Amino acid sequence: MAYAIGVDVGATKIAVALVTRAGHAVSTRQTETRVQDGTDAVIRRMASEVDALAAVADEAVLGVGIGVPGLVNPDAGVVVQAVNMGWTNVPLRERVRAQIGLNVPVRVENDLRGAARGEFLFGAARGVDDFILLAIGSGLGSAAMVRGHVVHGANFFASELGHFVIDPQGRVCTCGLRGCAETVLSGRGLIDTTREFLQADFSSSLNANDLTTNAILDAARQNDAAACAAIEKMGEWLGIVMATASAWLNPARMIIGGGLGLAAFDLLYKPARESYSQRVLKASQQGVELVHSQVESSAVGAAALVL
Ligand SMILES: [Zn+2]
Repeated sequence: MAYAIGVDVGATKIAVALVTRAGHAVSTRQTETRVQDGTDAVIRRMASEVDALAAVADEAVLGVGIGVPGLVNPDAGVVVQAVNMGWTNVPLRERVRAQIGLNVPVRVENDLRGAARGEFLFGAARGVDDFILLAIGSGLGSAAMVRGHVVHGANFFASELGHFVIDPQGRVCTCGLRGCAETVLSGRGLIDTTREFLQADFSSSLNANDLTTNAILDAARQNDAAACAAIEKMGEWLGIVMATASAWLNPARMIIGGGLGLAAFDLLYKPARESYSQRVLKASQQGVELVHSQVESSAVGAAALVL
């Protein structure tokens, strides 16, 4: 048996996992990112977390996979841009390799593409060469695999569905565009949609000034009218995004991940499926499955980059 080390670095925390070939984390660690300390300090903290895991590994470590939320050139090992981290053109692979005690391959990739590889190797896409992954959380992340290869595109912007405009009259997005998929398929999006239904006088136990995604999901499970309408709407948008992906890539499986995506999967399934089925050709829907993510964590997904 051998291990891979996966690193999930985000604006708030660095999570690392010592992962078996089967995708199980046998040991995990977590620390604050503290972006404000500067890139050097963040990389030193990542390296010391990796070293700490390597020290407890009772078998060989094959490599280190790092998932970064942003634009990554995996061939060069460079983070081209990660807005939340304030990083531009950071040669992360070389910098981490120089700092860690291990002499093993290091691979850097966009976090969702790492997660997609994790789903492919030991998650919800085992045995499936063509699939898409949609991660609904604070934003909407996405990745696609075609014939067993993760799609990158000419400038690493491929399968960026979060900032694809699906509603020209929609809400203004944090990116400056109007009506991005992320404005409706995210925690913020669900809260905004619920508030709209409350303002339209749907009966509800929810308080428009104090909405959380958990409260909305709980209310939807109690058949609260506003919460149910908001989930229904969110499912409709999800089906539209799935139909878009379907028209381009003809995936066999659609995998829903992300904190909110997993928490709301049972509620979103039916409206998303219905919305999807109304928007793609009958024949192309045959056998397409909608499932939830099965990779334990983002750090485990990152470990898949070197397995
Ligand atoms: Zn946007």
